[in-house]
Amino acid sequence: MTVTTDSTKQQSMPVSKASVSASPSQKEWAIKASPAVGRSKNKIRSVVAGLDLSQSQSDKPLINLGLGDPTVFGLHDPPKVALEAMQDALLSGNANGYLPGTGLKEACQAVADYHKRWDGVEYSAEDVTLTHGTSHALDMCFSVMASPDQNVLIPRPGFPAYGTLLGHVGCEIREYEVLADREWECDLEAMERQIDEKTAFILITNPSNPCGNNMTPQHLKDIVDVAERHKVPIIADEIYGHMHWSEWPFVPLASIAKSAPIVTLSGLSKRFLLPGWRFGWVALHDPLNVAGAVRNGLHAWGNRIMGPNTLVQKSLKRILSETPDSWYDEVTRKLEANAKLAYSNLSVIPGLYCTFPTAAMYLLLGFEIEHFPEFPSDVEFCNALVQEQNLFCIPGASFSIDNHMRLVLAAPSNVLQDACDRLREFCAKHYVALDYASVSL
Ligand SMILES: *Cc1c(COP(=O)(O)O)cnc(C)c1O
Repeated sequence: MTVTTDSTKQQSMPVSKASVSASPSQKEWAIKASPAVGRSKNKIRSVVAGLDLSQSQSDKPLINLGLGDPTVFGLHDPPKVALEAMQDALLSGNANGYLPGTGLKEACQAVADYHKRWDGVEYSAEDVTLTHGTSHALDMCFSVMASPDQNVLIPRPGFPAYGTLLGHVGCEIREYEVLADREWECDLEAMERQIDEKTAFILITNPSNPCGNNMTPQHLKDIVDVAERHKVPIIADEIYGHMHWSEWPFVPLASIAKSAPIVTLSGLSKRFLLPGWRFGWVALHDPLNVAGAVRNGLHAWGNRIMGPNTLVQKSLKRILSETPDSWYDEVTRKLEANAKLAYSNLSVIPGLYCTFPTAAMYLLLGFEIEHFPEFPSDVEFCNALVQEQNLFCIPGASFSIDNHMRLVLAAPSNVLQDACDRLREFCAKHYVALDYASVSL
């Protein structure tokens, strides 16, 4: 008796045309990534990839003022209540399951209460969507609010993730400038000129990364005026909200809008010093009820990946309502002292200039490139700074601004002082005075 195996049976079967053209043995692997990948490059990563941190010629220990992460130097411990609440949530055994995609109602309500207390804006739990970090909140808003045939306005210099995330949407990106000689206020005329009937939103970052400024109440009113005149909603990235030491208050955009929908983004990463917990949110302020499409879109988007992790959601109410005011003050005082130290040291170095940072945790340092002829751009400048001084700062190129570098202020004062001393030594070595003699040569 002959036994026919399955495979011999298959081989003896008549060969169809389709199987000839797609003969598995002849087909080559041809795995491609989506074209969206090419549009989603992170500018910090691609610029910094050109710098070699391991090759420094210096004996000095590395000072890395590049990462916008407030935990790197242990500037300050996170709120104690945050750790306790997380531990309780973990041990309760009650935080292991799924929650509603846009967030647990009590956690959304906690965000509403937090913004009511700090921003003076009324929200309901339904106005809030919880997200996996504020980056996810940005991604969600971009996906929900913009389509490929529209344009959006974002600041320059600005947070590089905006471009990275918008690359996936495929809409046109228009940049309005924030001006160094006006303490990083927006160029409102340029902003307004770029708005047309296809503008999906204006994105405002206040306080700003990388500029470290808190815009004045009047300027924020002027921004809202532009949006309301043109009937364009605002995405307000206020992740650094209330982290300021300017003489004027921090004014949340939602608190002054009369008609424009304001989509406010915030989270635990910066003000609460917990970026690794990956927790953020979107709060929609819609005074005239004209943004129902955005509200529905956010709810739909929240349900795509079932929201951020349950442990933090169950802890959120305590984190937001029980963190003592004195804790926020301590963090701000440290950042303010660092801003003063860095500004007083750096603003007097020949060839460098900056405005005094009044918020967030950055100083955007300009240099007069004509006085440093060895370096064609800020990328080479920052690279030489690593080679000679083992000091790392992110070049302005990552934020779309020439001849600048960003310093993170969330380091202990002795480390910052050391960084300033290294910059002084570096500049003294490379600075070339431009006098009549050298110009006429
Ligand atoms: C850090 C930062 C964020 C987002 O941070 P997450 O870690 O994703 O919460 C968003 N916007 C700006 C301007 C930032 O600096």
